[in-house]
Amino acid sequence: MSEHAAPPEGADFGHDFARALDTADPLRPYRDRFVYADDTIYLDGNSLGRLPKGTPARLQEVIGDQWGRNLIRSWPQWMEFATAVGDRLGREVLGVDDGQVAISDSTTVNLYKLINAALDLRPGRGTVLIEKDNFPTDLYVVQGIARARGITCVYLDSDIDHGVDISLVTESLSDDVALVVLSHVAYRSGALADMVSITAAVHEAGALMLWDLCHSAGSVRIPLQEAAADFAVGCTYKYLNAGPGAPAYLYVRRDLQSQAQQPIWGWFSQRDQFGMDQRYDAADGMARFLTGTPNMLGTTSIDEGLNAIADAGIGQIQDGGRLLTGYAQLLADEWLRPLGFTVASPRQPSRRGAHLTLHHDHAWQICQAMIARDVVPDFRTPDRLRLGFSPLTTSYDDVWRGLDRIRQIVQDGAHLSFPTERAAVT
Ligand SMILES: *Cc1c(COP(=O)(O)O)cnc(C)c1O
Repeated sequence: MSEHAAPPEGADFGHDFARALDTADPLRPYRDRFVYADDTIYLDGNSLGRLPKGTPARLQEVIGDQWGRNLIRSWPQWMEFATAVGDRLGREVLGVDDGQVAISDSTTVNLYKLINAALDLRPGRGTVLIEKDNFPTDLYVVQGIARARGITCVYLDSDIDHGVDISLVTESLSDDVALVVLSHVAYRSGALADMVSITAAVHEAGALMLWDLCHSAGSVRIPLQEAAADFAVGCTYKYLNAGPGAPAYLYVRRDLQSQAQQPIWGWFSQRDQFGMDQRYDAADGMARFLTGTPNMLGTTSIDEGLNAIADAGIGQIQDGGRLLTGYAQLLADEWLRPLGFTVASPRQPSRRGAHLTLHHDHAWQICQAMIARDVVPDFRTPDRLRLGFSPLTTSYDDVWRGLDRIRQIVQDGAHLSFPTERAAVT
């Protein structure tokens, strides 16, 4: 089922079949490594991943021993640890060699840093290309930088359900384009962009490429190294399960590191940090992309979150995501299509990440009714239900019961008593 969402041999739509899929699932043992506090069917691991069972003890160790006892004497150990976790995330999740990934700031701030660094590397070029349906923070950061630097922002007219394809990128490339900013997996539809061929086309035009990996890190294999991508950013609280507000990461290809310079000249990117020199002198390597004091509790929870991913392996996780979304699509076609739903993601599992998006005219009301019945999806504008199937933490039983509850809600019209007015946080 990894190429097409064809029903597996002997598939049926019964609950027993879901249980049989769970029994046969090689990722099943990993679910025991996470906290399930109640019976909520959580289809939102792509917004905030579950808490790994090991994380509270790891945090307690940092709080009690490293902070509580050793106080400031822990900093040498913490600095080394932060570098090691960046390298580990690079190897296990991004598939890149050491020395090219750093843990730092938020995705938003890292976008600001790397977009500016990229533009400085292409003086004389005055255009940034960005997909019009990229995640809002990516759009806003590009717009703010375009205003500050007096450059032009060109929006690729991507389809909100099918994502960006290479022809859309190539027809907008020109010798004025300095940088292209795209998401590898689209946040709304889950569409997976062809990183290797798009990056090659961008390089061919003399431009640089920045990938946002927020929805692909920990859900699919990322061919960053094969693509020789220039820059990438991403967060750690989605499929990497590092918890709310855990720091983000950034990637800079090794050969660009000595030329590129980010605009937030903080003391953590100073060559001799404790020389306390009054003049800035950028450090070598990934250290030059840091800013200020790193978040050590967050970095610790990133490291703990990486354990399950490293053990399962990203290949197996990617297969698991395709099977889960494929199964969800099967049930959606059978049960939900007659109730007014359509799949608003690419239909081929290999063309998407680990979430599946459904369109329905009453999606916001259905979303509220689902939460009232302990099924947690995301609502995404304009009228989409986004169902995340985090491969390490979602069972086939969750998929079956989650979609069954959607079916019941809409069959009974239970959603119609919920407000049509959208809440501030969805
Ligand atoms: C989740 C997400 C972000 C989040 O950025 P923060 O700075 O962590 O709030 C950015 N980009 C994309 C594509 C995302 O999915």
